[in-house]
Amino acid sequence: QDADLESHTDVLIVGAGPAGLMVAYWMAVYGVRARIIDKRGTKVFTGQADGLRPRTLELFDSMGFQHRVIHEGHVAVEANFWVPDENGKLTRQGPHCSPKINESNHHNMLLTQGRIERFVIDAIREYSDLEVERGIIAESFGYDENLENDLDAYPIMVKLRTLSDEEANPAHLITSTNGSGRQMANGQGRGSLLPDDWDELIQKSRHRKTRTETVKAKFIIGCDGAHSWTRKQVNIPLEGSVTDHIWGVIDIVPLSNFPDMRRLGTITHSSGTILVIPRERNLVRLYVPVQIVNNTSDTRFDRAAITLEMIKARVRNIMSPYTFDFQICDWWTAYQIGQRVAPSFNKGSRIYLAGDAVHTHSPKVGLGMNMSMQDGFNIGWKVAMVAIGAANPAILETYTPERHPLAEMLLEFDRLWSGEFTETNEDGVSNPDKAERMVDVVEKFMDFADGLKAYYPAKSRRNSTCFCTQFDSWGANPPLQAEGNSRWTTRLFESDGLFRIIILAGDVRVEEQKKRVETLGRLLAGMDKTKISPLHRYVHIPGYKDQIRVVTIHSAPWKEVEFFDFPEILRPFDPVMGWGYDDIWCDGFCTWDPHCQGKGYEKWGVDRNRGRCWFFGQTNIFGWAGELEELDDMTAYLDGVLVKMPTPEL
Ligand code: FAD
Repeated sequence: QDADLESHTDVLIVGAGPAGLMVAYWMAVYGVRARIIDKRGTKVFTGQADGLRPRTLELFDSMGFQHRVIHEGHVAVEANFWVPDENGKLTRQGPHCSPKINESNHHNMLLTQGRIERFVIDAIREYSDLEVERGIIAESFGYDENLENDLDAYPIMVKLRTLSDEEANPAHLITSTNGSGRQMANGQGRGSLLPDDWDELIQKSRHRKTRTETVKAKFIIGCDGAHSWTRKQVNIPLEGSVTDHIWGVIDIVPLSNFPDMRRLGTITHSSGTILVIPRERNLVRLYVPVQIVNNTSDTRFDRAAITLEMIKARVRNIMSPYTFDFQICDWWTAYQIGQRVAPSFNKGSRIYLAGDAVHTHSPKVGLGMNMSMQDGFNIGWKVAMVAIGAANPAILETYTPERHPLAEMLLEFDRLWSGEFTETNEDGVSNPDKAERMVDVVEKFMDFADGLKAYYPAKSRRNSTCFCTQFDSWGANPPLQAEGNSRWTTRLFESDGLFRIIILAGDVRVEEQKKRVETLGRLLAGMDKTKISPLHRYVHIPGYKDQIRVVTIHSAPWKEVEFFDFPEILRPFDPVMGWGYDDIWCDGFCTWDPHCQGKGYEKWGVDRNRGRCWFFGQTNIFGWAGELEELDDMTAYLDGVLVKMPTPEL
């Protein structure tokens, strides 16, 4: 055995699934000294999650790879519910489409988790050489609480072990054959929804000649799935229950005469309901109720007893009289539904948990990957900014209060939605209310699931560092003043590490309003020595001259106001890049973009004449809002969030 190595890192991320990769993205953006490890020898390639909600797509858009999802993924906005009529004949109810379909330019999409992981990994590479270290398992943990409040100290100690190829890539995780000789991935060997194999790997690796390393870290973020090793080290339980329903999931290329085989929907029969999910590459995912176990004492089921043939037989039974078969099975697994959540997503101020590590539920609501990525996004930028000394550590206290209530909502949604699938009607009598009830459940949770609203708690902005407040996260798309381009406002909030002040400048044709904007401009430029400008006041982030970018959206018709009418601080000049043309926008009508109707102010509830001022954090959600004259108030708020430079450049 090689001698133990010892090393230091500021942030250690355990697990490189969707949550861990999102955290790593922020480490890359802010240039944090970080490491991300995963016990698996490879990323996911097939199976697992596939549903992408608009809110997640909005984040991808801000990270710059939404176009790749659109190119490869499958849009699913309409659902059909097939239920037996009074004669027991399967009939289509629908299509049902979201009543809020036009609220956004993003729609629900389906694409395998493996591709999403690829896109995030590529986005990380755009910023840094941070790479996932694979085939490495975290296996022992120490924490010195006395060092918790010393930001220069490394209170966390984790022992890592490099696994052999065989351990990191167990054969059963990769392929088996489906009887026709084709290889396919079988997800039964690992799982967040199934008992995982990490402790078995630890046992095995102890007997191998592999390298070990002790890493000392300032922060640890456990993104290591439902059987989270990190969560167990800090004794945070998962609370909730496991139900007695066993489900099969298959990703197949169907051979069937069922008319809606490539449409999103459900098929209900006397003994249960199948969920049909069309996917990329002619694949279709089916969630299939396989059996109900008698769980009086043991809550685990024997997953080895579930076979692909068994799942196929259930599909045939439920879809009858339609035919069903396949030659290609890309991936399949079986799981038991459980709804569980951790009471806290952090332990003190140095240890955080994200994703399946803190909430598990059935995959049928299509939110597992979404919630996990949103957790990772939320804690990622906060820890990264604190680690580089640019943000007040108190912002870390907002993580659990912001994300935990959403996990509770997720579980409630899942309980109701899963109930619709497991309910059986043994007599085979038709249930005309079934489709209506399913639509009701979806609509009840739509704002939450699709991210049409942010539910982060609003707090007093003066006295608290709470960074977010409730707000419709959807933007409108104003055209660019100087170029005539049109863009959704959510795209204006790129996840590039900068914060944004959004000045809704109002109708600047009116002299009085123009003066208000000019006064604000002088203030921001630091020309009014009696006031403090938030610009150039806080610690810079690497690669940028500043930490805050100012974006202006006025409400006058673009032809009646010129770009150069605005104060220079709002359209700054760079000797190389020229004027800040994409800093001035107009909430006006755009002839070629039907979404661009000049109604943004109305949507945001802002007076078109007087405007308003907002401060946005990294979540596309504003943390402060006020009048154009209230810059001092905004600065006071920011002083609680960001770290001031030793000598402010006023
Ligand atoms: P994960 O994706 O589970 O990632 C955790 C990572 O941590 C893994 O890569 C693991 O190798 C690593 N890890 C764990 N312990 C250690 C350790 N000690 N040291 C180093 N690394 C470690 N969702 C759906 O929406 N639909 C589905 O049909 C669906 N099916 C699924 C089937 C399976 C078999 C699994 C596992 C998950 C499924 N999910 C499904 C859930 C979805 O994949 C998760 O919600 C999502 O991946 C959660 O992301 P995460 O990053 O939190 O955790």
